[in-house]
Amino acid sequence: MNGTPTRTLQADVVIAGSGPGGATVARELSRKGKKVIVCEAGKYHKWFGYTLSTVNMLDRKGMSFSREGNWIVSGRTVGGGSVVYGGVAFKPPEWLREKYGIDLEEEVDEFYDEVPIGPLPDSHIGPGARKIMEAARKMGLDWKPVDRLIRAEKCKPDCDQCMSGCKEGAKWTAREFLEEAIGHGSQLLVQTEVERVLTESGDAVGVRARGPEGSMDILADTVIVSAGGFGSPRVLQRSGLYEAGQGCAVDFGRYVVGPSRTHNPRKEIPATTGASFLEEGLILLSAAPKSMMYAGLLGLSGPSGWARLPKVLQTGKTLGILMMTKDRVEGRVNADGSFSKPIDEDCWAKLNKGTVIAEQILQGAGVRREDLTALTCFAAHQVASVRIGGLLDNDCQTPIKRCYCMDASVIPEEWGLPPVVTTVSLAKRLAKHLTASVETKVAAQNPA
Ligand SMILES: Cc1cc2nc3c(=O)[nH]c(=O)nc-3n(C[C@H](O)[C@H](O)[C@H](O)COP(=O)(O)OP(=O)(O)OC[C@H]3O[C@@H](n4cnc5c(N)ncnc54)[C@H](O)[C@@H]3O)c2cc1C
Repeated sequence: MNGTPTRTLQADVVIAGSGPGGATVARELSRKGKKVIVCEAGKYHKWFGYTLSTVNMLDRKGMSFSREGNWIVSGRTVGGGSVVYGGVAFKPPEWLREKYGIDLEEEVDEFYDEVPIGPLPDSHIGPGARKIMEAARKMGLDWKPVDRLIRAEKCKPDCDQCMSGCKEGAKWTAREFLEEAIGHGSQLLVQTEVERVLTESGDAVGVRARGPEGSMDILADTVIVSAGGFGSPRVLQRSGLYEAGQGCAVDFGRYVVGPSRTHNPRKEIPATTGASFLEEGLILLSAAPKSMMYAGLLGLSGPSGWARLPKVLQTGKTLGILMMTKDRVEGRVNADGSFSKPIDEDCWAKLNKGTVIAEQILQGAGVRREDLTALTCFAAHQVASVRIGGLLDNDCQTPIKRCYCMDASVIPEEWGLPPVVTTVSLAKRLAKHLTASVETKVAAQNPA
């Protein structure tokens, strides 16, 4: 991305990326009267509710593979991954405070007050999820409704489109915070990719970006890189911070599915119930992939999967369990867009353990053993590529002064949890830090 900038814009704060991290900082700072410009590389997609809508909103249309061939998905649209995510909420683990001194209790409470986060009511838990919950409980598992970032009153119990954008507007997405920021005077530049951070004498002074009208410089007192777990390290590497992206973590996932002989085949909301084995880095949720994703996952499973493709026709009757497993910080995100992310033996052991538990539950729920299929692995939840305590200080400032990083990439270690609640809370914490520093500076300049 080269070229002489055709125009220059000016703001107090410029943010690269509009996912949960970037949108939250934009909203919090604009509420305090800051002039914020948010640059988002993706489009403002509005066509929601179909599998193809999801594909459109994924980075590289979902075709993003590590050098080792592992399939890893992330969002590339206004609102980032939150537009295509499942809306499953988990609070940050205790170790973040104990080990890193990052206490997010106040920020998490704020977020839970702003968005109705909690389990969906019984009326929204479908027959498949109930059957799975019953079977899991019979096995002695603590399987229960999980917290969702979904407004039940807007959510339709027979809709399974959470990950296609949610056309009902029931699922919280970062677009809500962005729209609020815009209401407070922030500017959103879509299809505008930040190339690098501009510096003068080691301090950030803005960013160079490329939008539909060409290259531009956006000058600002504070730069926040919020381009996501794989996007932020690339911007920072292009800005001379080569350590960014050295190591990263994801959560590897896999569906185990099978046709049910008894289950009512109507559509239902995915991921309403589940069980977590947090010590072991394993979460199981009641969820079956939708038909196109099911076909895609079977296609990627090789000859054994292809033989099962006809079963896709029965997908309406499919019971399924989705597992997410904790990875380890390993691999590398490169500025040229490539990345390395192997699955290590430990992660395979967790996936295998999750598969055995899922198969037992599904058999208990009425799926025949010979019909069970463990689909190919994929990953999401990119974290720990620009880590607090590594490249970042405790306030998420990079070695470039006044350049901060704020998104899931700042999470300091491998995670094993849905990251949105923590990312939003970290972003609220950064916004408080930035406004507190300005207030202290103003007070020092005007002691009276
Ligand atoms: C299918 C799926 C399901 C998921 N389900 C859940 C779930 O149930 N619960 C949960 O908590 N999490 C879930 N996640 C993960 C969650 O979506 C992410 O953790 C979260 O969105 C990360 O937020 P972020 O702020 O790090 O940035 P992202 O959401 O990754 O957003 C970064 C944004 O920056 C933009 N960008 C990239 N490079 C540039 C650049 N150079 N200049 C400008 N813009 C740029 C991208 O286009 C993107 O829009 C899911 C993810 C996926 C893909």
